[in-house]
Amino acid sequence: MNDVIVVGAGPTGVMLANELKLHGISVAIVDRDPEPSPMVRSMGLHARSIEIMEMRGLLDRLLPQGTKYPTDGFFAGIRTSEPVELDTTHPYTLGIPQPLVEAALRERATELGIEIRRGVEAVGVTQDAEGVDVELSDGTTLRSAWVVGCDGGRSMVRRLLDIPFPGESAKRQWILGEAELTASLDEIVAVMTRVRETHRGFGAGPVGDGVYRIVVPAAEVADEGAPPPTLDDLRTQLTAYAGTDFGVHSPRWLSRFGDATRLAEHYRVGRVLIAGDAAHVHPPQGGQGLNLGLQDAFNLGWKLAATINGWAPEGLLDTYEAERHPVAEEVLTVTRAQAELQSPEPGPQAVKTLFAEVMEFPGVHAHLLGKVTSLGIRYAVSDASDLLGRRQRDVTFGGGGSLYPLLHSGRGVLVDQTGELSVEGWADRVDVITEQSDELPAPAVLLRPDGHIVWMGEDATGLSEAFERWFGASSVAREVQ
Ligand SMILES: Cc1cc2nc3c(=O)[nH]c(=O)nc-3n(C[C@H](O)[C@H](O)[C@H](O)COP(=O)(O)OP(=O)(O)OC[C@H]3O[C@@H](n4cnc5c(N)ncnc54)[C@H](O)[C@@H]3O)c2cc1C
Repeated sequence: MNDVIVVGAGPTGVMLANELKLHGISVAIVDRDPEPSPMVRSMGLHARSIEIMEMRGLLDRLLPQGTKYPTDGFFAGIRTSEPVELDTTHPYTLGIPQPLVEAALRERATELGIEIRRGVEAVGVTQDAEGVDVELSDGTTLRSAWVVGCDGGRSMVRRLLDIPFPGESAKRQWILGEAELTASLDEIVAVMTRVRETHRGFGAGPVGDGVYRIVVPAAEVADEGAPPPTLDDLRTQLTAYAGTDFGVHSPRWLSRFGDATRLAEHYRVGRVLIAGDAAHVHPPQGGQGLNLGLQDAFNLGWKLAATINGWAPEGLLDTYEAERHPVAEEVLTVTRAQAELQSPEPGPQAVKTLFAEVMEFPGVHAHLLGKVTSLGIRYAVSDASDLLGRRQRDVTFGGGGSLYPLLHSGRGVLVDQTGELSVEGWADRVDVITEQSDELPAPAVLLRPDGHIVWMGEDATGLSEAFERWFGASSVAREVQ
């Protein structure tokens, strides 16, 4: 029996499994699809996701496959006269197709020895006091101590748990796909520029080998579970909007997406949790969905592992929902707002004009990009300082090297420039770094495994309490008991 079964081998599920395995948790993933999806939904990673990839040693695999873009323009396509300087060593958006991100995560999973069982759908979830049975479409049942549904926006796990998913259904849909076009690039660009004056959700861009990524408004909102659009559907819609189908042929894949916006009421029922699109869906404006799912997994992984390994302090696992639900709520607000601002209707365009003026005021654009990039997230750790609960940015040490490469193990870290502090009692859960850096916010800083600051100081005042709150009881105290 595994400690955890993750349902869904998308980016959220594989990221989560990798995080669990770092802490010695036995985990298996099941996925309905016989093969990884070739569909290119997400086109990029924002700064915080880039940082967490570096914190786990995955960034070196991704950077050579991507392109760095300035982050300006990622809020509703609005650019300001002064570029925003993000407080990170990665002040850019990494343009990289979703399948490449997923492949890097799977490669790591394979290295860690995680099994991904494909071609089986989770069709039933039943839990009791000791564990959870996951009924699979091939008639078998897997039992584990915990289950996490990372099974996408139509999550079966969420439905089986009866978790309400309030919000709005899709009012509009678009056909998205990759196919070859016989029209010349000049003709495509000329037509596209004309059509986009009135229809922003229309585009065709080359992705190599004569293949184009194409998006065009769909004729209507399809029923849930409807089959993917056909080449004829795509031809019809291209002709309706552009007056030509550009000679579209040989599709690699075709799909549709909509502007449904929903957020699960709970992220946990007993021994079953949900993460990623299973917990929240929203329009793709601003490119946040995959990033949000990766960061859900990064928040949940160490907490669930601590619970299974028996050292989690009271309530630690509940902080997953307490911290991540409000983050998703804000992403829904940010994407809803952008969807409105990007409407070609005169009303929203007037609002956008004024909004662009307001964004010229100092700090406004940076504030909005803090939400899009997730660098602005602050969890409710303490009111003692604005930095508590925020993520620690990477810093360079005086002796050379930097902080993030030292976080690959996924353990807590005490960065102690005083050389006077001790992790005795928590050394099995927290590493110590005694390097010096003038970029650190305090002489000593305690970081959770996800890199968020939970204590700062110049001596040991409050340190034991912070250890206990985030890393559980001292092993010295446990030995005495
Ligand atoms: C057009 C478009 C553009 C986008 N652009 C961006 C972007 O630029 N940036 C960004 O961050 N995000 C973007 N997104 C969002 C992003 O693609 C999703 O948020 C992301 O894929 C969610 O990952 P996930 O792992 O939570 O779910 P998914 O990727 O949906 O993975 C779920 C997995 O679960 C499996 N599964 C489902 N049901 C079952 C079951 N019952 N049993 C077993 N397995 C099951 C599926 O086969 C799938 O592999 C975009 C989305 C769209 C549609």
